[in-house]
Amino acid sequence: MLKQLKPYKVLQDRRIEELKSDAYLLEHQKSGAKIVLLSNQDDNKVFSIGFRTPPEDNTGVAHILEHSVLCGSKKFPAKDSFVELLKGSLNTFLNAMTYPDKTIYPIASRNDHDFHNLMDIYLDAVLNTNIYENEKIFLQEGWNYNLTSADDELTYNGVVYNEMKGAFSSPERMVRREVLNSLFPDTTYSSESGGSQKLSWI
Ligand SMILES: [Zn+2]
Repeated sequence: MLKQLKPYKVLQDRRIEELKSDAYLLEHQKSGAKIVLLSNQDDNKVFSIGFRTPPEDNTGVAHILEHSVLCGSKKFPAKDSFVELLKGSLNTFLNAMTYPDKTIYPIASRNDHDFHNLMDIYLDAVLNTNIYENEKIFLQEGWNYNLTSADDELTYNGVVYNEMKGAFSSPERMVRREVLNSLFPDTTYSSESGGSQKLSWI
């Protein structure tokens, strides 16, 4: 099977008995991307693409980007690809997560055709996102001003903004944040990767 993967160089291969898998660490020769391949009998196939996204501040920019790239791409210009997939695919898992130092986009499916479709959509989402053509996507996901009539009060809105408002209403989350701030004050882990402050340049 690996012979068909000519664009890749095998850096390591080993059997992982606990996972009943043959594991390979590959390097994509052209881009230098590292790929971990686990070959086994499980019919629930999993794919995930991830990026290093260590935050330098509390704006949650990586989290906003995580949401934004799932709002349409070159090949799949749907307004909300993620919601469409949730409704219409045979996935057994579909999500995207921003961690304190990385962002990952995992999918899983037991149906081979569906698995390839999902992989295609997620790869196009992260590599050919429509965000460059339409900056409103970023504003919609991050935060924006809302004013329905001239007499109304100006309010904030935004998908990630609302999500983080929910997250910060959890006392555990606040404690966890304070613990990280105290333990790692001068590293990337002292920043809130989810976002707790507005982007000053908007
Ligand atoms: Zn989110």
